[in-house]
Amino acid sequence: MNILIFGPNGSGKGTQGNLVKDKYSLDHIESGAIFRKHIGGGTELGLKAKEYINKGELVPDDITIPMVLDVLSGSTNGWLLDGFPRSLVQGEKLWEALQKDGVKLDYVIEIKLPREIAKARIMGRRLCENNANHPNNIGIPAIAPDGDKCRVCGGALSARDDDQDEEAINKRHNIYYDETTGTMAACNFYKNMKDGGFKYIQLDGEQSINEIKDYLISQLA
Ligand code: AMP
Repeated sequence: MNILIFGPNGSGKGTQGNLVKDKYSLDHIESGAIFRKHIGGGTELGLKAKEYINKGELVPDDITIPMVLDVLSGSTNGWLLDGFPRSLVQGEKLWEALQKDGVKLDYVIEIKLPREIAKARIMGRRLCENNANHPNNIGIPAIAPDGDKCRVCGGALSARDDDQDEEAINKRHNIYYDETTGTMAACNFYKNMKDGGFKYIQLDGEQSINEIKDYLISQLA
């Protein structure tokens, strides 16, 4: 089973991606995480990638595309690809490579969420001192904190610095929502493809986490 997942930062892509990954025991292949591993290991690729990542820019395709394709080809369990493709060119190159290697794509999942809502969600996220998995968000009524405390355990809450950096959020969303050459262009490339042999599943990111989960499960084999 091989799956692509698209969704802007703040859409719950991580949560829904984990569900899919666990259901099919897939390798979770995340381009950002691969870069972070290279940076941590001090590799040449990591050094090159770091200068772009620190500026919030995309790492150039001549570094990113071969790196991701290499990891994909090493997966024997099937994969959930997350964070790639992030541009139309990456989307086209990925499709070309899959065709060439005779690799079947089974699902393409898109979580749709308007840009302003995605931004409000990121800025509303609060982190519990006791458990990073306790969901708290001042922008989502269903998981609003209990006063200024964690809604699950009453722990103290704080906001992540990068979640409050509006400029950085805008920069990432500029890339994601670009329908000409950006991530949405890649997403539309798959959405509009005829006879790709995969099922395209569109999720409404404005629904609750559980509603999205239930719908997603109903659409998967
Ligand atoms: P992420 O963890 O997905 O937020 O990725 C962290 C950073 O890694 C991004 O801001 C980019 O600089 C870089 N990156 C991740 N995926 C890609 C990609 N598909 N193409 C180019 N750069 C990427």
